[in-house]
Amino acid sequence: MSDSRLRNLVVVLGDQLDAHSSAFEDFDASRDAVWMAEALGEATHVWSHKARIALFFAAMRHFREHLRQRGVRVHYRQLDRRAHDQLIDALRTDLKQLRPEKLILVEPGEWRLREAFRELDADDDTPPVALREDRHFLCSHDDFADWMRGRRQPRMEHFYRWMRQRHDVLMEARQPRGGRWNFDTDNRESFASDGPPADMPGHQRFQPDALTREVIAQVNEQFADHPGTLEHFDWPLTRVQAQHALDDFITHRLPQFGRWQDAMWQGADVGHHALYHARLSAAMNLKLLHPDEVISAACQALDDGHAPLAAVEGFVRQVLGWREYVRGLYWQRMPGFADNNALQAHARLPDFYWTGDTDMNCLRQTLGDTLAHGYAHHIQRLMVTGLYALLLGVEPVQIHAWYLAIYVDAVEWVELPNVIGMSQWADGGVMASKPYIATGKYIDRMSNYCRGCRFRPAATTGPRACPVTVLYWDFLARHRQRFAGHPRLGLQVRNLERRDAQELAAMRRQADALRER
Ligand code: FAD
Ligand code: SF4
Repeated sequence: MSDSRLRNLVVVLGDQLDAHSSAFEDFDASRDAVWMAEALGEATHVWSHKARIALFFAAMRHFREHLRQRGVRVHYRQLDRRAHDQLIDALRTDLKQLRPEKLILVEPGEWRLREAFRELDADDDTPPVALREDRHFLCSHDDFADWMRGRRQPRMEHFYRWMRQRHDVLMEARQPRGGRWNFDTDNRESFASDGPPADMPGHQRFQPDALTREVIAQVNEQFADHPGTLEHFDWPLTRVQAQHALDDFITHRLPQFGRWQDAMWQGADVGHHALYHARLSAAMNLKLLHPDEVISAACQALDDGHAPLAAVEGFVRQVLGWREYVRGLYWQRMPGFADNNALQAHARLPDFYWTGDTDMNCLRQTLGDTLAHGYAHHIQRLMVTGLYALLLGVEPVQIHAWYLAIYVDAVEWVELPNVIGMSQWADGGVMASKPYIATGKYIDRMSNYCRGCRFRPAATTGPRACPVTVLYWDFLARHRQRFAGHPRLGLQVRNLERRDAQELAAMRRQADALRER
């Protein structure tokens, strides 16, 4: 691997697969080269789902081929049994031979890695490191810091409106298109009792090619004890595939996206498991798609009369609003974000999160989807797996490690705020004004899960008592003082106080038993 004339070595991390990123700005193929590595530690520092490992490695190998076809020299460390555990160690080893004048990379999306590269830069024995701005996002660190300044409660809704104005998205004469910022009331229906429409379109499936099959075989062998399966692996792995996946979503599912955004359903087949969701998060997080092109495609569908405003607004809110907002918050609150534990939750994460082996059908189905695909949609993550962990009082850092391990789109800048802030309310209300809590009746309303469950969503005591409902009342009782005067939760606390004392005591005993188990 020796190269005495090497000017810049461009480091491309596994979630930076964009040949037009700032790292390639002044790239000269005759003097520069690219370095990429599959590091064992990145696959194992949390007990990653096989699909998550396969997605990263397969997409990286495809990107390597893409660069090589364009005449770029790529020094690529493929995972083998002698692989370095840590990416930085592998890089240090190779630097001794490659001896570039400078290292260039887009600033890593994860705090831990950014610090590691800063340390490398400070090291006298290694070349200087230039960390370049990540142009993938629509809100820079500085802009987010400006927006945050002086805000005690940095709410997503305010950020989203600010972003719409700044980027002139869905605006007309400086007013929100259609006269409203938010079409939630038109969206978020549940399916009829017979389920999704018979003509619900499936998502485009990308059958693994030879290179991906090689990765799948390797992951199945080398990470055999990791959770999940690769049986249904069909994710877009290249820029071209990601563009097709975007087109497929805009054409077939966007028009109904908002309407069924919160609905859940057991029984959809492999090709329909995401219902009307985009399934684009992994491609975006790997940087195969830019959020700008995703938003533009959705807005074009509105202009063409292909999708209604409510659906397009609901979708744009997720990408221009939530996605940029959580990334801004992540960098504002690191390091130490994962240590938040405002509700003093210390329970252990139940083992069944890794296997799906539970009697609670809502959890069994959501975990089943998760293990089969490395994917569950937002409401499954927030209002089933997240809700149960919150009500049970699981220690936030444990549930964070689970989410980071189990979804193909899991990268820390987006996963951590969603878990710590939105789902577990561990930041004490910075991100969400109140904890997302509900009884089993919410799950019953939004899905068909309860129909296939041995528990009854409204039952609070006895063998049929729904654990979600029992834990909901127990949660309110445990945090009664904190939330009694809360403008949005006070009513629920008052409902608790109206409950029969004996029934409440029985529920709390049952909740203790669930925690014990
Ligand atoms: P859709 O529902 O079709 O939404 C479209 C796009 O909007 C997504 O692709 C995504 O890029 C963006 N988006 C939607 N909601 C959010 C959100 N809350 N935060 C950031 N972006 C959003 N998303 C990840 O990308 N990685 C994660 O690790 C992750 N962990 C999560 C953990 C929890 C507890 C929760 C509640 C949410 C998490 N999300 C995460 C956000 C969201 O659930 C996923 O982005 C979404 O389910 C991905 O599926 P989709 O592409 O079909 O999204
Ligand atoms: Fe889940 Fe309770 Fe419904 Fe069973 S009854 S599916 S545990 S919400």
